[in-house]
Amino acid sequence: MNQTMNQMMKNNISEFFYAIDNSDKICVIGHVAPDGDCIGSVMALYEFLNATYDKEVYVGFDGKIPYNFKKYIDENLILSNFENEKFDLTVVLDCSDKERLGKYECVIANSKKTICIDHHKTNTEFADINIIDPKISSTGELLFHILKSENKEISLKMAEYIYIAIITDTGKFSYSSTSSITHNVASELMEIGIDIARIDNEIYNSKPINIVKAYIECISNINFYYNSKLGIAKITDEVIKKNNIDMNDIEGIVEFIREVDEIEISCVLKEYDVENTKVSLRSKNNIDVAEISKKFGGGGHIKAAGFQISKNLKDSEMIIVEELKKYLGEK
Ligand code: 5GP
Ligand code: MN
Repeated sequence: MNQTMNQMMKNNISEFFYAIDNSDKICVIGHVAPDGDCIGSVMALYEFLNATYDKEVYVGFDGKIPYNFKKYIDENLILSNFENEKFDLTVVLDCSDKERLGKYECVIANSKKTICIDHHKTNTEFADINIIDPKISSTGELLFHILKSENKEISLKMAEYIYIAIITDTGKFSYSSTSSITHNVASELMEIGIDIARIDNEIYNSKPINIVKAYIECISNINFYYNSKLGIAKITDEVIKKNNIDMNDIEGIVEFIREVDEIEISCVLKEYDVENTKVSLRSKNNIDVAEISKKFGGGGHIKAAGFQISKNLKDSEMIIVEELKKYLGEK
């Protein structure tokens, strides 16, 4: 990235650090239903700001922190009662549009300056300064390049957060968004001293048994369409309640479906309530699921995207099957 960083990006980065220097009260927020890249990049920037400057810094996450990230966040840091708070600067990370800020959307209007750092190709550039690069694996990796381009020091804690952001958004360096530079960044993070085996155990090998039971139930009810080029699983409210877990605790089903040889597109539907469904899409090869998601008001990346739809689970499944007909052929 350093070699390819264009002048506009450099200017935006200078403005970002200038804005930090000139702000006393800063808010750092990510997207709703926070995932590893969102949590890792928000917390890495929080650590940087807190350790480097003498400023009031707050973080915002709308939605429950998944069980496996809880130990990485002091929940007391999470901003509450912010509706009437004013900020000098708000930095938004890993969030492609204002609506994805959920309950923190009002913070944007209450900030003198806003900056968005993101890698979604569907980013709407809603902030005053937008540092967006869809070629980069994760917002965590982009943040690393931004900090390094200004010779900022990466502490061990920041390195851990950035590594978590990268591994969770790249499927542990396996998705096509992973570049040789991503590996160089991981190498530098290891030089700083992160314990990759411990992080792997904490993020991936720590599932409570009730989450595993819910997972098994979900994957035993996958529907296949178009000669198994499409697979759809549903996470129902009933399964969530029965196992006493949170919707965002079940990870990996959409990736599991993609493991089927014939699959081109895998899909998971989350039952938010009787008339609201969250759709996750993954593409194995060339079908651009970000474009498909955009049609439904969502977004994301070519091979990983999503949207929310005001329909029940069954109708959402039918709509998706119908929409994908033109890509995958007859049922
Ligand atoms: P997931 O399926 O894991 O929720 O999300 C996959 C990717 O799609 C992520 O990069 C995420 O930010 C994006 N994405 C998921 N849902 C939405 C949505 O409703 N709107 C937008 N703009 N992006 C989404
Ligand atoms: Mn991301």
